[in-house]
Amino acid sequence: MNFDRVFIAAGAVSTTAIIARSRPTEARPIKLRDTQHFVFPLMRFRGTKDAATEKTNRLSQIFVEIDDPALCDRLVHLQFYGYNDIFMNALKEKLALVNKVAPFFVNFLARHAMIVQGFLHSDDSGSVKLSLARSGKVQLAGEPSAQAHKIARKAQQSIARSWQAFGGMPVPGQIMVPPPGASRHLGASLPMSAAPSGDETDTLGRPVGLTRVHAVDASVLPPIPASTVTYSAMANAARIVDEVARLAETDP
Ligand SMILES: Cc1cc2nc3c(=O)[nH]c(=O)nc-3n(C[C@H](O)[C@H](O)[C@H](O)COP(=O)(O)OP(=O)(O)OC[C@H]3O[C@@H](n4cnc5c(N)ncnc54)[C@H](O)[C@@H]3O)c2cc1C
Repeated sequence: MNFDRVFIAAGAVSTTAIIARSRPTEARPIKLRDTQHFVFPLMRFRGTKDAATEKTNRLSQIFVEIDDPALCDRLVHLQFYGYNDIFMNALKEKLALVNKVAPFFVNFLARHAMIVQGFLHSDDSGSVKLSLARSGKVQLAGEPSAQAHKIARKAQQSIARSWQAFGGMPVPGQIMVPPPGASRHLGASLPMSAAPSGDETDTLGRPVGLTRVHAVDASVLPPIPASTVTYSAMANAARIVDEVARLAETDP
């Protein structure tokens, strides 16, 4: 079968693997950038009585962007979540003994707790190395960053300092910084560049040496911002397709 053009949007890992597999002679690890995430609980001074039973969605209720050069040069993005069953079950598991003897206390915590999920810019995060085994199988290895842990803790302290504004306090010492890749906001493995080289792509998502193959998903974003990434990936894909359609009119 023949095609005029190929657009690949299989997601950062799969698109990178497809490009890597198509060039086995250049096989070398490719770096997938991550927006490393972290999670910590925040106890609100006022509880919500019907937190467990109120009929509402359980999506993030507040987005907060921290713009503080003392923390890092980039924005830190935070999403605040109220009660949900996943956190409640985790709480009950963690405090199994307390829940047995004093379930009202665990319910009290649930009424007052919020979970804060933070994300860092890819420049401040660990990354994931993608390499191909001889069989063509993809191997992924996390490359952690000590800086990411430091910034995550500082972001938590920053929220603690603003306790009055938030009407609550993060629980001291409680923060989880999962390994790189866990954020599920991977990308920038084939970053667009005006003058691409190595694993970079041009501004139409074309890997070096390919003229009719375009990667058009999160893999070609130059960095990955801390804030939500999907609209940026979609807007960029739409831009590439529009520009290619315009080019095709003059040079089919
Ligand atoms: C649980 C979860 C929650 C998230 N929440 C948010 C959020 O709130 N906000 C936000 O901005 N981002 C969020 N993200 C991240 C977001 O989903 C991704 O960053 C975004 O979808 C990336 O877009 P993409 O086009 O690069 O890849 P994808 O959206 O992953 O699209 C790739 C598509 O290609 C398909 N595919 C893969 N391989 C092949 C193949 N060989 N042949 C054919 N098709 C193939 C896949 O099935 C998929 O449909 C979340 C991710 C997860 C997992």
